[in-house]
Amino acid sequence: MGDPTVYGALRKSIAQVHTIEFQRRGLPHAHTLIVLRAADKFSTSEHIDKFVRAEIPSSIENLRLHEIETRCLMHGPCGIDNPGAHCMEADQCNKMFPKEFRTATTMNVSVYPLYCRCPSDTTFVRGREMDNRLVAPYNPYLLLKYNAHINVEVSPLCMR
Ligand SMILES: [Zn+2]
Repeated sequence: MGDPTVYGALRKSIAQVHTIEFQRRGLPHAHTLIVLRAADKFSTSEHIDKFVRAEIPSSIENLRLHEIETRCLMHGPCGIDNPGAHCMEADQCNKMFPKEFRTATTMNVSVYPLYCRCPSDTTFVRGREMDNRLVAPYNPYLLLKYNAHINVEVSPLCMR
């Protein structure tokens, strides 16, 4: 067996594990946990912001990123707009969308970070007005490279 370390979009990983899910709807998808080496673990909110975003990218600054993000990483509609959505359980979104607006990312080493989601103008996605409260967190580099739904979050295991 070779060296399991891999340099990638999130820095140097020392271990990875994944599962492939075959759901009733859509294509199979993978859940991957990447363990970063100690030196690359997330230590500040600014560090997280460099790798993970939860806001709709500006179409003026990067039209391609805006198009991929709004096509692949907007949650919903669910809630009262779509009570039959697949994420709805007991009249609530099981992913807890929409999230709260917040002007900065906050981290706590024992829970998932609360990502910056500045109050934003709405964008029409799938015929609905949506804003930063409905963005599934992503890594801009991975979205631009793979043009696909790739939700990226910082696990408490990856913080120091
Ligand atoms: Zn939902």
